Amino acid sequence: MPPVGTSVRGAIEDDRRTALMRTHSGLHLLAGVVFRDFGALVTGGNMEPLTARMDFDLPEIPSDFKDRIAAACAVEVAADRAIRVDNLPREEAFAIPDIIRTATNLLPPGLEVVRIVDIVGLDVQADGGTHVASTRQIGDIEVLKVENKGKANRRLRVRLQ
Ligand SMILES: [Zn+2]
Repeated sequence: MPPVGTSVRGAIEDDRRTALMRTHSGLHLLAGVVFRDFGALVTGGNMEPLTARMDFDLPEIPSDFKDRIAAACAVEVAADRAIRVDNLPREEAFAIPDIIRTATNLLPPGLEVVRIVDIVGLDVQADGGTHVASTRQIGDIEVLKVENKGKANRRLRVRLQ
């Protein structure tokens, strides 16, 4: 590490950043689809460029779960939904039902402005990450497998093309 005060010059690796933006946006889409179609909330996740896993609180899964998720993700990518970013006053952000559901307990009490990422019509999150501008830019999402990780915990593994 350079000492504090040292001038440095940085650059973003465009290919890696773009892959991470697509993958991260794909996880938003996946979380939105699984909540809308199965009522399940996210319990955890992890990602690398173009590959990721996400865990959901879901006691029962239908036999065609994997195919239904893959089909729904394909529909949402093709729909080319806008992905919008807004900075809202805390009260306004916390009045959004999806934010109440997912983030009210995670954000520090002193936070006055909340950054909101909205896949219009599908999913709204309080979020500090980088995203593509619309769902079509995510590209194809392949659902690789569904794993059981405990009583009500289902892990979805996905890969982007
Ligand atoms: Zn995000």
